[in-house]
Amino acid sequence: MAQKGTISIQAENIMPVIKRWLYSDKDIFLREIVSNACDAIAKHRVLALNGEAEPEENYRVDVVADEKEGTIKVVDNGVGMTGDEVIKYIAQVAFSGAEDFLKKYKPEQDESSGIIGHFGLGFYSAFMVSKKVVIDTLSYQDGATPVRWESDDGMTYEMSDSNRQVRGTTITLYINEEDHEFLHLYTLRQTLEKYCAFMPVEIYLSEIKPPEEKKEGEEDEKPAEPEKINEIHPLWTKKPSDCTEEEYKEFYRDVFHDFEEPLFWIHLNAEYPFNLKGILYFPKLKNEFTSNEGVIKLYNNQVFVADNIKEVIPEFLMLLKGVIDCPDLPLNVSRSFLQNDGYVRKMQAYITRKVADRLVSEFTNRREEYEKYWDDIHPFVKYGCIRDDKFFDKVKPALIIKTVGGKGKTISEYVADNCDADKEEKTIYYSSDEKRQAHLIEMYTSQGKDVAIFDTLIDNNFLSFMEYSQFDKDMKLRFMRVDAGVDGLTDDVQADEDARKSLEEKFRKALGNEELTVELKSFKTDSVPAMITVEEQSRRFADISKTWGSRGFEMPVKRTLALNSRHPLIAHLQKNNSDELDEMICRQIDDLAEMARSPLESGRMVAFLERSNQLLTRLVENNQN
Ligand code: ADP
Ligand code: MG
Repeated sequence: MAQKGTISIQAENIMPVIKRWLYSDKDIFLREIVSNACDAIAKHRVLALNGEAEPEENYRVDVVADEKEGTIKVVDNGVGMTGDEVIKYIAQVAFSGAEDFLKKYKPEQDESSGIIGHFGLGFYSAFMVSKKVVIDTLSYQDGATPVRWESDDGMTYEMSDSNRQVRGTTITLYINEEDHEFLHLYTLRQTLEKYCAFMPVEIYLSEIKPPEEKKEGEEDEKPAEPEKINEIHPLWTKKPSDCTEEEYKEFYRDVFHDFEEPLFWIHLNAEYPFNLKGILYFPKLKNEFTSNEGVIKLYNNQVFVADNIKEVIPEFLMLLKGVIDCPDLPLNVSRSFLQNDGYVRKMQAYITRKVADRLVSEFTNRREEYEKYWDDIHPFVKYGCIRDDKFFDKVKPALIIKTVGGKGKTISEYVADNCDADKEEKTIYYSSDEKRQAHLIEMYTSQGKDVAIFDTLIDNNFLSFMEYSQFDKDMKLRFMRVDAGVDGLTDDVQADEDARKSLEEKFRKALGNEELTVELKSFKTDSVPAMITVEEQSRRFADISKTWGSRGFEMPVKRTLALNSRHPLIAHLQKNNSDELDEMICRQIDDLAEMARSPLESGRMVAFLERSNQLLTRLVENNQN
């Protein structure tokens, strides 16, 4: 009683496209076939619970490779299908799914953006790797007879009786020559682990051994030593109160293969307003550059969809590692649709809020620990602030400034301890290199001021962001590197403009630099004669362009030589002296000021050393006279 049929008139146009276009993610066929098997079991479970089907103790899916025969079988003991159902669900419904799918995602227009995990293609993805697909199925329904459906091309099919004895479905894929790799146990295991590691029904992998390895009397079709592939109750599906710290850590190791312990984690467990579960881990940083490679795995009802879907998960969270399971996501749509989808946006906002809440609670309840984590989490937090206003708003009180000496302060604490309460503008002095800027730092700390440390790649952007954003409506934040100016080190006393002018002249002449700008200020200390300052904004800009831009081109930075009117050398230069000695002093002062910021380049260093020796010699000679 064989029965033939054509699946759809359009099938002829569509199958070749499916095969060609989905080439890159071919391996999803396995997810689709195995998840169908799990779905069929889930349906049976519900029927059994309602007393509409025989109870089953041992639900399972077997994936069996037979390299010799060239087949992969996916066997389940789910609901099975009657002959009518096969025609309806496989030939009509399933195919219309594939048809809709292709209508929406014409390869020409949407190829590069792709569809997330190619959801919605379903059963027909089997034809991406198969020259023939056979279904043997026996429905759970009373009086059902087993049926066989087979198709060589996904366009026409034949139906006949099957010899299947037990309830459920076996899908047999006759794998194309060119897709032979999927028959190897290793590839098959990898693919199953990628997509099926957390599917909700036990999945076993085995292979049929070639005859020579077979023992006498062993049955042909029996899978040899099946190995279990998945964990049917992944940690994220459990109640947070039922999970132990060790379980969270173990899950982290297993899923992300990171043997460094995570710092802390957030277990998302919402049913309302979204059905959303997951665990987000804050990883320990290795170094500033590699740390940016987090992984967020997206699942749909325990079925893996894809890694790092930036349309679904707020981009800055990609620095974390975690799993998110979102059964209600409309995944059979294009990425551009997801980007503009209200549901997705709300979900992102929810995740963002949860992460911010957690950071604030860590800060409030375990400040000491939190400050220790800060070195690892700060790039993430700062990036989040820049990218997301709401996140910034929430997390503001938990932003830490590390200061020289190791103490951490919140922005408000820093301001309260260091800034003039009467001024609206609050200046935060910072260092970008504690060792190199030690001398400058000391000028601040010796006055009892805290110097902040901002020494990572993201800081230039973060500081500009903080200045521009409204951290607090009653104050304006300004960040100044310790070499950015001398306002924090000087009295408000106005210096004499004539004196400044004549010193500027003197220095310009001595240094052979007509562009030089000289400032004359009364420093609170008389230990240094001068400091070179580089204007903050232009320097930051130059730093950013140095990091990201092309080499060889240097952005101009505005430099000033700030002289300390309280220093005896500067006082000396203001008198009429021997030109020759003054010139040496000017150069020496300029070199020393430069050295306080960065090492001298070699020619200048040689001149400096020679001059230093000359000056010492002169000193001794003068003393002898
Ligand atoms: P979807 O899973 O989204 O419904 P598919 O193309 O994957 O679409 O499958 C189409 C239909 O075929 C399923 O809805 C189901 O009715 C039927 N089906 C597929 N595989 C099985 C199976 N192993 N057991 C029972 N029914 C199945
Ligand atoms: Mg399916």
